[in-house]
Amino acid sequence: MSEVLEHCTEVLHTLPEGVTLVAVSKTHPSAMIEEAYTLGLRDFGENKVQELVSKARELPADIRWHMIGHLQTNKVRQIAPFVHMIHSVDSLHLLECIDKEGRRAGRRLRCLLQVHVAQESEKFGLYPSELRELLPTLDVPSLTGLELRGLMAVATNTNDGAQVEGEFATAQTLFEEVRQSGRAGLEHFDTLCMGMSHDYTLALRHGATMVRIGTTIFGQRDYGRTN
Ligand SMILES: *Cc1c(COP(=O)(O)O)cnc(C)c1O
Repeated sequence: MSEVLEHCTEVLHTLPEGVTLVAVSKTHPSAMIEEAYTLGLRDFGENKVQELVSKARELPADIRWHMIGHLQTNKVRQIAPFVHMIHSVDSLHLLECIDKEGRRAGRRLRCLLQVHVAQESEKFGLYPSELRELLPTLDVPSLTGLELRGLMAVATNTNDGAQVEGEFATAQTLFEEVRQSGRAGLEHFDTLCMGMSHDYTLALRHGATMVRIGTTIFGQRDYGRTN
């Protein structure tokens, strides 16, 4: 059995029923994605539009592509026809652009609002206070080019498990708040996407319904080669 297959199988065994695994394939060749595909994996995550588009072109059409990286409005059109979910919605401007491009493509683009819970300034996302301000101003049912499906969070990259858990707990609280708001148009707000290779077991303790795992499945990324 190849290493990718072995690691995929191991990760899948540790995930509770109902948790979706997004295999983060950024920087890795399509051949490795094909291996994971043979095991039944269909959800793959990329963080660059160009790489996402070129891999989607050469790989099976039933793959569900997740855009997990920071997204510029001028690149939404390239992925709108096929992307399965956009995880990194962090501004009203981007949300409106995705709505427009979704309608143009005749689709409702599934979106996660990225919430900034980490103690790191370079992490993208809406601060909890910004999210709480933004949501009530949105006329969600009028956004017919997209579907708000939940929240995405990235925790601080630290060995301090208590801090990471605190950040995941903050995201979970926000998620539950939105779900319980009973707002029209949020009937499918069911996804809490958090947890990467080094912290997904902590994310699962705080209600993650989707995890994004790269290194544990595909090995270390060689940025020198592809970036
Ligand atoms: C790269 C990346 C991941 C995967 O990280 P690993 O540590 O390789 O599991 C998850 N989420 C985001 C947003 C990423 O950019």
